[in-house]
Amino acid sequence: MLDASVSQTSESDVQQVDVVVVGAGFAGLYLIHRLRKAGFTAMGLESASDVGGTWYWNRYPGARCDIQTTDYSYTFDPELESAWKWSEKYATQPEILRYLGFVADRYDLRRDIRFGTQVEAATWDEAAQRWLLTTGNGTPVSCRYYIMASGCLSSPKPPEIAGVDDFKGEIYFTGRWPHEGVELAGKRVAIIGTGSSGIQATPMIADQAAHLTVFQRTPNFAYPAHNGPSPADRVAMLEKDRNDYREQARWSLVGVPLPRATDFSWQLTEAERRERFEKALAAGDLVVMLTQLWADQGVDAEGNALAADLIRERIRSIVKDPGTAEALTPRDHPFGSKRPCLETNYFATYNRANVTLVNLRQEPIERITGSGIKTDRRTIDVDVIVFATGFDAMTGAIMAVHPIAGRGGKSLSDVWANGPRTYLGLTVAGFPNLFMITGPGSPSVLSNMSVSIEQHADWVVDRLIEMRQAGFTTIEATETAQAGWTRHMADCSALTLHRLANTWYTGANVPGKAQGVMPYTGGVGPYRTICNDVVSRGMLGFKLNAPNGAEQCNDGEIVRLQPDVRLVLNMLADMNLPPLESLGAQGARAFVGEFNASRPAGRPVGEVVGGSLSGADGPLPYRLYRPATPGPHPMVVYFHGGGWVLGDEQSDDPFCRDMCRRTGMIFLSVGYRHAPEHRFPAAAEDGYAALRWIAEHAAELGGRPGPLLVAGWSAGGNIAAVTCQLARDRGGPEIAGQLLVCPVTDCTFDRPSYSDNATGYFLTRSLMYWFWDLYCSPADRTDPRVSPLRGKLEGLPPAFVATCEFDPLRDEGNAYAEALTAAGVPVEHLQARGHFHSSLTMVDVVITGANGRIQMAKALRRFAGLETGQDDGGVIQSRKVLSAEVSAAAE
Ligand code: NAP
Repeated sequence: MLDASVSQTSESDVQQVDVVVVGAGFAGLYLIHRLRKAGFTAMGLESASDVGGTWYWNRYPGARCDIQTTDYSYTFDPELESAWKWSEKYATQPEILRYLGFVADRYDLRRDIRFGTQVEAATWDEAAQRWLLTTGNGTPVSCRYYIMASGCLSSPKPPEIAGVDDFKGEIYFTGRWPHEGVELAGKRVAIIGTGSSGIQATPMIADQAAHLTVFQRTPNFAYPAHNGPSPADRVAMLEKDRNDYREQARWSLVGVPLPRATDFSWQLTEAERRERFEKALAAGDLVVMLTQLWADQGVDAEGNALAADLIRERIRSIVKDPGTAEALTPRDHPFGSKRPCLETNYFATYNRANVTLVNLRQEPIERITGSGIKTDRRTIDVDVIVFATGFDAMTGAIMAVHPIAGRGGKSLSDVWANGPRTYLGLTVAGFPNLFMITGPGSPSVLSNMSVSIEQHADWVVDRLIEMRQAGFTTIEATETAQAGWTRHMADCSALTLHRLANTWYTGANVPGKAQGVMPYTGGVGPYRTICNDVVSRGMLGFKLNAPNGAEQCNDGEIVRLQPDVRLVLNMLADMNLPPLESLGAQGARAFVGEFNASRPAGRPVGEVVGGSLSGADGPLPYRLYRPATPGPHPMVVYFHGGGWVLGDEQSDDPFCRDMCRRTGMIFLSVGYRHAPEHRFPAAAEDGYAALRWIAEHAAELGGRPGPLLVAGWSAGGNIAAVTCQLARDRGGPEIAGQLLVCPVTDCTFDRPSYSDNATGYFLTRSLMYWFWDLYCSPADRTDPRVSPLRGKLEGLPPAFVATCEFDPLRDEGNAYAEALTAAGVPVEHLQARGHFHSSLTMVDVVITGANGRIQMAKALRRFAGLETGQDDGGVIQSRKVLSAEVSAAAE
């Protein structure tokens, strides 16, 4: 099949090519096309006898794609797009295989593919700076670049059940279904596994078999595919402007151009939520149900449970036998944390007389016998066993080439013994010139694969072209870049619920496999931006070498911010806002008011009431947040942020609500006076006066008798710190603890964070200068009532100090925590990695900030003498699960 243009060295019997591509599925075919067009000699090595990849092997009854065909297609060639018409919304396996054959023919790709060829080992030849591949068929191949396009779900998992060899009947694997088909009519069939393959195959097998017994270990979330012609609205969207549609897909979160829901579940009524669910159900689309219900469905267990309950309800409404319905109802993982499935008559199939469900949670399989399957309760005799037990996903096909020996002879299996580590899911440090397409660490299986494949193939081939132009012949990820990517991957997965389920996404389906979320959960569009940033920042994190000794290495980490912080800052940068300080105090207040109005509404608490208290020079407004739990509650006096100039008692509303819920305490937010109308020490004196008034009126406010707590963010953190000093010096009231979130503590601007984070992280150095100028004259700035770091610190209440890495105020906050400690004050200090000044208060926008708030709430409860363990103020269960991860996530 190979073209003569692939050069051969007759002396050594080793074929020499520029690039080897392993796999001739969606990825391999496109790569060969692009490489050839770019003038590289490329050879495909494919173990199957033809093109198709996963669609070559998965021929089981019912096999179809589960991304709509409008989206599950190549997009690189508009002529190809118009030359092919899909017949259905979700094409069958034979049609997809025909499509891939059509593509192979159209671009004459088969001539560069050696079929029936398994790559057995790959060794980096240090002297030649090339890979040497040995194969199960034909001569070895030497290549400059070695690309694994071997698929994420192509290595079927062994059955792991004792006695398989004893079985006298027929055995089939969905992932290796015989090409000639299987005759099931009149037979007693068992199917093991209820993932996507099992759910697609079950109704089809039930139609043919005399009896079908389904062996289910874990029930899955599934909803109807509503297959048929492609929906008119989707086709219209595509036809209206194909380029725009495709471009939107490339920058979307999952590779399908659908906007995500922006309303949170608690902003919708039950009827509204149900209406959205019914609409998503009617759409028959995996992505619609996963992204279009409400904004918190994929990141928050409570929002997720609302969606999961509706799907569960539907199962109960279809399956007639209540016991079977219950067994089919998924309860052990959040919806979407495991790949959900599209179904066609799956649940209804259990109403058939010839179908039985065996719940392996109640009666596990002991072994397979000569005649059937033995559980710990009985033996079920069958003629055929179908294993729909899944794949050694994401790493299985890569590791099947063994060894892949990189620099210094290191084997990839050893390097990945504790789980895959990659840079961008594309490369591995120590393995020069090796690329993976949709490898672990890239969006891959959490995306529309066709979009991700094209992006990866383009990125790789574009780099090879650039390297050729620059004279470089090797490329290798640095350890620093890879470690940074691994950390970013962990940060991203802490945002989603994927880590809460045992799935093939995490390696949990394969006994003994290292566990961890393998795909990149940060989204297709953000990932594409990052890959492009790597290039625009001089191939950041890669070392490039040329035969003449030239070397380029621009080392570093591509993402140091938390993923959601990065998105928020990018969004703010795109808005091109004028500097706040250029708007004047009134203009800045109006702007912040408008900005706050557009943020998600805070979550419900027991009660929110406004009122008025006595400040230092007249009445001040306040807002009180009361928990839903029975009182009286400990009270936290809260001071909002805003540089002593902006904000009011309502401006940190989501934060107060969230902390009220988490702590189970009253938060009372004080509307202290602002500069420039009221300059120093107005805010400080208001803070202290408010504390006194609240202490005197605690009982009537529903507060628990005894010491108060104080808290504040930013300039509010400054007021909180000052208030503690004043209360100590002026004879009370007693304070049980102080929470200082990114506080202003000192008047000098020479600490490194003022230059490291001077711009680009929303709170800028020049904005801080402006705040200081409006509030306090230079002569007063060393007064401890505005620079508490310069005050006496002994005898202050215990403190929780939170500082953020990318905040100009970071170092003065750190200095305050250190100085308090030195003064003998018990201090808990959270230094939030990858966060910016607003991370901890932008509730439901910067989701990763929740980890810090969990710690803060625990500290406040501890200060108040409450239990910190189980009761988190009625906050959702996931937060309890998450709390175990807090210390790891927020250093
Ligand atoms: P899967 O989702 O991993 O499902 C395997 C099933 O087998 C699970 O129910 C699993 O139970 C069960 N199982 C595994 N080992 C078992 C054992 N030793 N004893 C009893 N039960 C066992 O695999 P899949 O269904 O082949 O799907 C894999 C992925 O391929 C899908 O998630 C999807 O991404 C893709 N796929 C897509 C389509 C499509 O519609 N386009 C079709 C098929 C597959 P546990 O859950 O308890 O482990």
